[in-house]
Amino acid sequence: MKMLLIAEYRQGQLLDSYTELQAFAEMMGAQSAMFLTASGTGELPKFPGKLYLAEVAEFGEYNPEVHKQLLLEVVAKEQPEMIVFCHSSYGWDLAPRLAVSLKAAQISEVVAVEDGALVAPACNGKLRRTLKSKGKITIVTLQAGAFSLAEPAADTPTVIPITGDSQGKVRLLSYEKAEQGGVDLAKAEVIVSAGRGVGKPENIALVAGLAKALGGEYGASRPVVDALWVEHNRQVGTTGLTVSPKLYVACGISGAVQHLAGMKKSDFVVAINTDKDAPIGDVADVFAVADLKQLLPVLTEKLQAL
Ligand SMILES: Cc1cc2nc3c(=O)[nH]c(=O)nc-3n(C[C@H](O)[C@H](O)[C@H](O)COP(=O)(O)OP(=O)(O)OC[C@H]3O[C@@H](n4cnc5c(N)ncnc54)[C@H](O)[C@@H]3O)c2cc1C
Repeated sequence: MKMLLIAEYRQGQLLDSYTELQAFAEMMGAQSAMFLTASGTGELPKFPGKLYLAEVAEFGEYNPEVHKQLLLEVVAKEQPEMIVFCHSSYGWDLAPRLAVSLKAAQISEVVAVEDGALVAPACNGKLRRTLKSKGKITIVTLQAGAFSLAEPAADTPTVIPITGDSQGKVRLLSYEKAEQGGVDLAKAEVIVSAGRGVGKPENIALVAGLAKALGGEYGASRPVVDALWVEHNRQVGTTGLTVSPKLYVACGISGAVQHLAGMKKSDFVVAINTDKDAPIGDVADVFAVADLKQLLPVLTEKLQAL
């Protein structure tokens, strides 16, 4: 299978999410080329194949309208069967535009590959669908953190500069940082997070208590935030924050891919869960199979006594 991988560049930096695209291509046994809008004098992906490079100064950093035109030219040359984006704001914007222009099938938010078929969540992540495209060309977006390279390549790509006079009606003027009130979890060295397993809002105090005893902050998974038990600026995951504390304690969190994407770079992970088979165990350094309502008060008391 021939694939075209769409790497990303933001605020003057190459995003390392391109390695997730490579990992997916490897898993699918595909022969791939890559597309990137960036500065040719800056860092380029470590990629062993062809890199179609559009100069950012000419074509803009975030300009889906213009980038779609450039991509159509690359697609005409490469004739890929699959075009793969990250499930990011850039991918959300650009992938469907391209799918419409190419009359291609689109499969969004892929989290796994099973027997050559693509697995994507449904019903707000409560179900998983296994999908096979019947289209001649398929556009795919990959959930952040779902694929990772076992061994990042050290290769340099064969750069093919893209030229042209693609013009769009929209121009990116600037980026604006989302307003962030109160706590800044990204700076915390210790984070204790509450998942749906806390059961009721009153139990958030157990998680906050342990966080305080450890000199850290408390966070939460998305269902806990959606239930308004914890404010959104404490949500960890793809639609919340990406954190990398020295210690992350996941209390009553199953370990969905969208949560893992936000915390798996933590130095040390402790998971407390009643289900010994919960997927959070795959990233945990210590896994306590226990009821958080029983364990947290004891743990907090012991720490306070130190
Ligand atoms: C587009 C999209 C974006 C998303 N973004 C995010 C995101 O940013 N962050 C995020 O977290 N999720 C996100 N999700 C949701 C994600 O798919 C999961 O649904 C969510 O992470 C599950 O949260 P949870 O682990 O708290 O709950 P559950 O999956 O319900 O897990 C609860 C866990 O608690 C355990 N448990 C139950 N009782 C106890 C107890 N007494 N003691 C100890 N353990 C107990 C259970 O065994 C279970 O493992 C997103 C989903 C979609 C579709």
